[in-house]
Amino acid sequence: MRRTPGAFHVKRVFAFLLAPLLLLPYGCAPAQPLERTFFAMDTVMTLRLYQGGDGSLLDQAEARVRELEGLWSVTDGASEISTLNHDGSAELSPETADLLRTALGMCERTGGALDISTYPILRAWGFTTGEYAVPEEEEIAALLPMVDYTQVMQDGTCASLPEGMEIDLGSVAKGCAGWRLAHLLKENGVTSALLDLGGNIQTVGAKPDGSPWRVAIRNPAGEGNVGVVEVVDQAVVTSGGYERYFEEDGVRYWHIIDPKTGAPARSGLASVTVVGESGLLCDGLSTALFVMGREGALEHWRQHRDFEAVLVSEDGSVTITAGLEGRFTPADPARPLTVARP
Ligand code: ADP
Ligand code: MG
Repeated sequence: MRRTPGAFHVKRVFAFLLAPLLLLPYGCAPAQPLERTFFAMDTVMTLRLYQGGDGSLLDQAEARVRELEGLWSVTDGASEISTLNHDGSAELSPETADLLRTALGMCERTGGALDISTYPILRAWGFTTGEYAVPEEEEIAALLPMVDYTQVMQDGTCASLPEGMEIDLGSVAKGCAGWRLAHLLKENGVTSALLDLGGNIQTVGAKPDGSPWRVAIRNPAGEGNVGVVEVVDQAVVTSGGYERYFEEDGVRYWHIIDPKTGAPARSGLASVTVVGESGLLCDGLSTALFVMGREGALEHWRQHRDFEAVLVSEDGSVTITAGLEGRFTPADPARPLTVARP
């Protein structure tokens, strides 16, 4: 028997209300940008071009996001991912094949903390529909054997899944879209832009005055920010338990699943922000490091060193990796801050 909790979907609301706040207090908006806001990939996106580009390039960028959404959406029955899930095999476009290959590589490098085959588990918890409910343990136990990204077969643009498996690229799609948009804009002469894909921030170049973008990192436990990180031509992607969740009997259940247990990941972290060149890598890692927890995340950073991170623990303390020293300004100097070293 399923119980139906008082569930609510906070993410969209936060995206609408907070996305502008995320940047305004610190952005000190340079010259008026060319701006476009639209709803895609289940979130609000705002593209701001500060140098280069025009309205038709914004049209092109928006159309590109919608095109990618049409390929990857799990809720659109006509998408390539839905076809793969439904038929068990599919011929993929180069974009989807690229994303699938990279995503599988991230599942591998994170030891399965990222696992794109968690979709049936997400459905059992109601995260795919918004009809949230804590599933019975037996239901999860029956689904877990089909959570195993190593069984996703890909040969070039041809992919197939074993019977009963379904995949979902929701952990990496926005990061990939942001990264692709940055390339599209640069190819078309844009030298300064700020792309906000539902909290996935992708920057192009620096601010028009040459100074770094200042991106605020939300306080996962309440109002305001934990700090501001300075970036040039990089992505800043956050995953947190506060983004999409429901509560039942006083317990909060969020949308990031530990593929080993089939339950929301409780690793002691409240949010993970990943900073790096590739928005796609940042997006996949923000989800995976959240699952790994602080020690696992720092270990992963020490092994790879191709990203930087801000980890906010449930006790409110903040850990930044060494590459962010001097680029991270805490909002509250009283909040405990540790710098992790290689
Ligand atoms: P968001 O997309 O909400 O910004 P994330 O990038 O962290 O946040 O991705 C979370 C989404 O990824 C979930 O909504 C779900 O679709 C999927 N997901 C949840 N847990 C995992 C996991 N361990 N591995 C891969 N995908 C996951
Ligand atoms: Mg992610």
